[in-house]
Amino acid sequence: MKLYNTLTRTIEEFKPQNPDEVKIYTCGPTVYNFPHIGNYTSYIYWDLLIRTLKANGMTPKRVLNLTDVGHLTSDADDGEDKLEKGAKREGKTVWEIADYYSNYFLENYGKLNLTQPDIIARATDYINEDIKLVDTLTEKGYTYETSDGVYFDTSKFTAYPDFAKLDLDHLRAGARVDFNTEKRNVSDFALWKFIKPDEDHAMRWDYLGRPGYPGWHIECAAIIHEKLGETIDIHTGGIDHIPVHHTNEIAESECAFDKKMCNYWLHCNFITIDGEKISKSLGNTYTLEELDEKGFSPLDFKMWVLQGHFQGTRNFSFTDLQAAKARRLNWRNKAAESYQLGNIEKTDVEAKILEKLNENLNSPEAFSTIDTNELSFEDWKYVDELFGLKITEGIEETPDFIKNLIEEREEARIRKDFAIADDIRDQLAANNYYVKDTPTGPVWQFLA
Ligand code: AMP
Ligand code: ZN
Repeated sequence: MKLYNTLTRTIEEFKPQNPDEVKIYTCGPTVYNFPHIGNYTSYIYWDLLIRTLKANGMTPKRVLNLTDVGHLTSDADDGEDKLEKGAKREGKTVWEIADYYSNYFLENYGKLNLTQPDIIARATDYINEDIKLVDTLTEKGYTYETSDGVYFDTSKFTAYPDFAKLDLDHLRAGARVDFNTEKRNVSDFALWKFIKPDEDHAMRWDYLGRPGYPGWHIECAAIIHEKLGETIDIHTGGIDHIPVHHTNEIAESECAFDKKMCNYWLHCNFITIDGEKISKSLGNTYTLEELDEKGFSPLDFKMWVLQGHFQGTRNFSFTDLQAAKARRLNWRNKAAESYQLGNIEKTDVEAKILEKLNENLNSPEAFSTIDTNELSFEDWKYVDELFGLKITEGIEETPDFIKNLIEEREEARIRKDFAIADDIRDQLAANNYYVKDTPTGPVWQFLA
């Protein structure tokens, strides 16, 4: 199985340290608001990754975190805390906000039929581990204190620019005028922030004799170390994480533990909507509920996402979503037909589909293979294992009354009682079925 590794910028053969326990970490959402459809795309691709590993006989051990504390609105350790902002907006406590949006996210995670991570780690449950990690970095001389926090001195880690191929001179030249003058280097980042006496910040923990809260990156480094150990196999995230968040996670982890943090880094690209960036001001921040209201299920959206490659730039439009929905319906009906007629022999099509996924998770090509081959019902079940699109759902459990209606319609047609046949067709339609006549007799199909 081959994967594109951001670390080496090449497609590499994937070699886990132990195939029976492939250690995977996924940076999860900041739980302060309703995610838009762009926020879900990466989790859909990482679900495909997990399913592909399993299809290759490996056993993943996967951790997903929920950032329920201290993630600032800017990557540069300033701006408002997202959770505090959510609490003000809704007149709730930060804890209520975190709880509500964590549950909301996990509910939608289920609706997209994404494989449950083995461990879901809430950042607020790992504050002691964060503090221990900051202490270790301080003992090793990587940190310094300013009036507003404990910072990581990036000049002490010579490999700092390597992961994101950062041009630090360029960064320095482009630094803002109001650049935090207490920072030694423009790329230095907060490991821990102090809360000023007049500052309104509900989430707080004591460290170094005063109240404060962790910087964003430390939670991932601490959770990974606690739950998965020193070197993990795969770390996933969005491409926006490369220059700051993941670069800083690597600095924290590798300086504290003197071990390579992770062997393979996977990053998924961003989607645009009608050619535009997704943003509140453009009014295109669709949620899954909004798609549902327009007649598209979470699984139709998942189908659309998987029609593209995780590294490609994707443009979302309702026309394309409509096409994805139609393609999924077509697959469900092909599966229903092969189940009822049992007329398709098993071939090597499953191996052919997996082969495409083993080429750096090439889901669009895997989909073409599905379209251009005849699949038995068993093969369609395999498709469901690989993509979790619920193609075969409801097929084996067709209610008896539907089967009876189809038989009655056949009989009515034979005796040329078209009024009855039409009436039965309407009854079937009311239950989301129709009858398709094939050379081997009638089969039921899903209407939508
Ligand atoms: P945000 O809460 O806006 O920081 O988004 C959380 C994460 O969702 C980001 O760090 C990205 O990795 C991902 N994300 C945001 N917008 C998009 C998009 N348009 N397409 C794909 N992923 C996105
Ligand atoms: Zn992270």
